[in-house]
Amino acid sequence: MAGECLQTRWTSSLLSSGTDLRGPRSLRLATTKLLVDSRSCCRRQIGRLKYSSGRNARPCKLASKLVVAVAGAAEEEEDTVMDEEKKQQKNKNKKVVVVGAEWAGLGAAHHLTKQGYEVTLLEAGAQPGGLVAGWKTASGRSVEVGIHGFWYPYQNIFSLVDELGLEPFTTWTRSAQYSPNGLEVESPIFQALPQLPSPLGTFVYTQFKLLPLVDRLTALPLMYAVIDFDNSDTAWQDYDARTARELFREFGCSDRVYQDAFNPMLLVGLFAPGELCSAAACLGMLYYFILAHQPDFDVVWCRGTVGEMIFKPWVASMRGGGCQFLSGKRVTDLVLNEATGAVTGVRCGEEEFQTDAGAFSVGITAMQRIVANSKVLKTREEFVNMANLGAVDILAVRLWLDQKVPSLH
Ligand SMILES: Cc1cc2nc3c(=O)[nH]c(=O)nc-3n(C[C@H](O)[C@H](O)[C@H](O)COP(=O)(O)OP(=O)(O)OC[C@H]3O[C@@H](n4cnc5c(N)ncnc54)[C@H](O)[C@@H]3O)c2cc1C
Repeated sequence: MAGECLQTRWTSSLLSSGTDLRGPRSLRLATTKLLVDSRSCCRRQIGRLKYSSGRNARPCKLASKLVVAVAGAAEEEEDTVMDEEKKQQKNKNKKVVVVGAEWAGLGAAHHLTKQGYEVTLLEAGAQPGGLVAGWKTASGRSVEVGIHGFWYPYQNIFSLVDELGLEPFTTWTRSAQYSPNGLEVESPIFQALPQLPSPLGTFVYTQFKLLPLVDRLTALPLMYAVIDFDNSDTAWQDYDARTARELFREFGCSDRVYQDAFNPMLLVGLFAPGELCSAAACLGMLYYFILAHQPDFDVVWCRGTVGEMIFKPWVASMRGGGCQFLSGKRVTDLVLNEATGAVTGVRCGEEEFQTDAGAFSVGITAMQRIVANSKVLKTREEFVNMANLGAVDILAVRLWLDQKVPSLH
């Protein structure tokens, strides 16, 4: 489910729903997984949430800021062994409510629907994706305030659009980075060049136009940290305790390589300067977007708004599969069966939706608001601890240039 593309797995042994979706009628305290993406993993924002992570859990820009999913709703291991039809039969009549219809929520609903669950997707906004879905300007240009670039590691999204028979993307494009001094870095289409063992291709083929070699060489010792950061709990505890800025200093990166190369990368990738992101989030990002495979930095762009090109046909296809999508439904609380500890419903004000399990796919700020107003969640420590997590405010500006602007290079 959506968790495939999430960076960090936060596990809490307390409950979100008591219904074990795998066993008919059997009730148990289910493990909830709190999946938090890198933007939320800033230093000191971790609070006392207990976490665990796997080597494969790498960061993804698409990741939900926060997903609370009920274990058992989509067991990956079972996925591989269980025959599709049997699985659908087994899950029939089991209800799951997914809260929030953006990438994470739509991804969760998509996989749960395919597994035969009776899925209801509740979205506070008027349409799936909200502002991220985008709109057209008066002159017909597409604008959105969220995802527009899709990097090579977004294989889940590329398979999805293939599955839906859509062709929303441009071909692979080259990237460049400008500073006030002019063109700083030019990246080729890495997959078109002879493959070198990772991460050599990244270093050999990237062209630094202004940064002196001596500064670039100061970044080499950082490879130790990239290798050392194996995404284990210990590594997270260690690297999350310092900022990315401290990490670069500690490994001897020059001020210039930080200012001209790494900090702009962090601003684009994690929406925060090195002083505000944890070293762990930074290393995860570098690994995922740049170092794991030679073509990781290759990117395609959506040829229109994500809403028109992807979300609309996606929701239509899910509806065809039985998923119910309801817009204008702001979730305010859960309904708990005190005797069993099981969640039995999701509340939108006075309205209640019965469910056997639920998945929250909303941002940190939205989740904190839900917890603060929820009679059920604000008594649970792991949810209350979400108050320790922070979000980054972003002002998005889009410029269209009507003529070629000469740069210094
Ligand atoms: C300016 C900008 C540019 C970006 N560019 C890129 C890019 O080029 N490439 C990239 O990969 N990523 C990019 N991102 C990041 C990407 O857009 C986000 O990571 C992604 O859209 C997050 O999706 P999500 O499903 O996790 O959550 P969210 O966007 O947080 O969606 C949550 C959904 O839940 C709904 N909701 C909230 N509260 C409730 C409630 N109580 N009840 C019901 N529904 C609720 C909201 O309306 C929303 O639809 C960009 C982000 C920004 C801001």
